[in-house]
Amino acid sequence: MHPFTSAFLLLLAAHVIVQVWLARRQIMFVSTHRAAVPPGFAAVVSSVDHARAADYTAARQRLGIVETVYEAAIALWLTLGGGIASVGSIAADMSPSPLLAGTLQVLGVFGALAVLGLPFGIYRVFVLEQRFGFNRTRPATFVVDQLKGWALGLLLGGAVTACVLWIMATAGHAWWLLGWAAWLTFGLLATWAWPRLIAPLFNRFSPLQDEALRARVDALLARCDFRAKAVYVMDGSRRSAHGNAYFTGLGRAKRIVFFDTLLSSLTPPQVESVLAHELAHFKLRHIPQRLVFGAFASLGAFALLGWLAGQDWFYAALGVPRRTDAAALLLFLLVTPAFTWVISPLLAAWSRRHEYQADAFAARHSDAEALAAALVTLYKDNASTLTPDPLYSAFHDSHPPPAARIARLRGTAAPVAPRP
Ligand SMILES: [Zn+2]
Repeated sequence: MHPFTSAFLLLLAAHVIVQVWLARRQIMFVSTHRAAVPPGFAAVVSSVDHARAADYTAARQRLGIVETVYEAAIALWLTLGGGIASVGSIAADMSPSPLLAGTLQVLGVFGALAVLGLPFGIYRVFVLEQRFGFNRTRPATFVVDQLKGWALGLLLGGAVTACVLWIMATAGHAWWLLGWAAWLTFGLLATWAWPRLIAPLFNRFSPLQDEALRARVDALLARCDFRAKAVYVMDGSRRSAHGNAYFTGLGRAKRIVFFDTLLSSLTPPQVESVLAHELAHFKLRHIPQRLVFGAFASLGAFALLGWLAGQDWFYAALGVPRRTDAAALLLFLLVTPAFTWVISPLLAAWSRRHEYQADAFAARHSDAEALAAALVTLYKDNASTLTPDPLYSAFHDSHPPPAARIARLRGTAAPVAPRP
């Protein structure tokens, strides 16, 4: 066996083992603390809510375990099992042009992944979310969403793939630099197009009507010296009872989007504090830092792909007998996650640092108590667990554990989770 095959198999196996182990820890920990609402939350979160959050967390983790194993099996089938190679020969029969055949191969593999992932999507929405009372998606909406998503994937994915494959075939040795530049350009275009052209395909966006809330939002933006073009309300309730708020767009054309579900569950001061938190991610330059990190990470990825694509062993070790640009691209996209998962705890820790900083900013420019109350309401409404396993949380969570986060906002020490 080629050493690279062994390394891939070893890291993929380690990935599955660590994910399953962490998920099982999370299920155990949450179940152990199912009966007792942690101190500081008991005033808002009832023991029924708390138990429901524990059951919801455990159900999602169980589904996640099955999905992790399933995805690893698919990755094995596509690589060592010859899946990529088979799709490649079908694509080559369909088109004499290597560029078109390569694009068809990439689209074919991603199409297969989308179809194979569909049972999980259906189960998640219509069984899991349904059972816990979150689902609002009708089957017809689900089908239309899938069709739109696939059409977009075909159009945008096809364009990017064809562009990268063309650069690989024509730009010579340093193609990866040009490929990276094209990738960044596409990212910018997508950021521009998302709020204008893509998001409206799935949701309705209407300007914020509530005058009092609008005045609060404007006052906050003025206080923080922040320019945003518009404030919208999105009909998130069409699909789910989960609430959220986000910023979108570039430069001065930024938009603020509130889910209608968020506005219906929070008071105006709480909405303002949540917005102050989101705003902090811009004012504290978290978003630019992430963009710069992403740009450098993708440069590294393209450089690595540029080198790997020229190595015959890269193809042979991963189940592809013939060297083609499309196969290099596919192998790279499918195999790198088996290696990069080891740095995900670092990224999660970085994100949690940003969350604490954004909370502190919101406390300075808005109201710490309102944000704490808003978060507790959101934890309750979204059935988020208040008692995550510390190790699971350290590895996966982009946001700090609820008890620590609320304690910091209220200026008290984080209470230790009680033993039942
Ligand atoms: Zn945040």
